[in-house]
Amino acid sequence: MDGWSDRAPPRKIFGNTYYVGTCGISSILIVGKHDAILIDGATDKAPAAIEANIRALGFKLSDVKRILSTHDHNDHAGGLARLQRDTGAPVLARAPAAATLHRGASDRSDPQFGQLGKFPPVANVRVIADGQTVKLGELELVAHATPGHTPGSTSWTWRSCEGTHCVDIAYVDSLTAISDKQYRYSDHPGYVAAFRHTIDTVASLRCDLLLTPHPTASDMFLRFAGTKPLIDADACLAYSRQAGKALEQRLLDEKNGKAP
Ligand SMILES: [Zn+2]
Repeated sequence: MDGWSDRAPPRKIFGNTYYVGTCGISSILIVGKHDAILIDGATDKAPAAIEANIRALGFKLSDVKRILSTHDHNDHAGGLARLQRDTGAPVLARAPAAATLHRGASDRSDPQFGQLGKFPPVANVRVIADGQTVKLGELELVAHATPGHTPGSTSWTWRSCEGTHCVDIAYVDSLTAISDKQYRYSDHPGYVAAFRHTIDTVASLRCDLLLTPHPTASDMFLRFAGTKPLIDADACLAYSRQAGKALEQRLLDEKNGKAP
């Protein structure tokens, strides 16, 4: 896809939170007094762009002490192995994603398995749990299990301040119910129940400022440019509602023989 590995201009989003990703895939840097946390590595060709962006903002790769991940597909996790080598930071992921990141390949539990590319395996992955807080210096990010797009999908929330103005930032994983030609969601009622629970989880997140792994999914660049509001306390609710409708439509399409 166009621009998934091409460098986008780095920029401050709010407070200690920066965009360091590519034109098509997000990578988010959260910076503390001494250390930083990076979320997502885009494609296997993207690390040079992400690293150049981190440096252009005045930070060092060695500042990055933890790398987090939203979902274990090659367009978001392809760059993690290289970023880990260059920063020395462990990658933190929930159990289903950790297994995929270790292998550099998904398995049949992923709805898109049949059409997914492999990616460079990540050597040092630490397993984290739903609700766990990742602490690094004064930084605190909370992991939220949001399975659906992948079994290991994880969303992240943290609070960021500019002076006395503080906002809750939610980096919410993709919620799209898409699959390869074999997978039917309706054959996996437990997975559908978990997906619906995810939709509810996202609706209830503390969320003043929504970020997404695909910038276009929440108009991030338009919001960075001021064309749309950057801060919108209803953004997670709207994102969740739209995803919920799409999931129910997909189930209906399966019932009516229109999908997969
Ligand atoms: Zn994906």
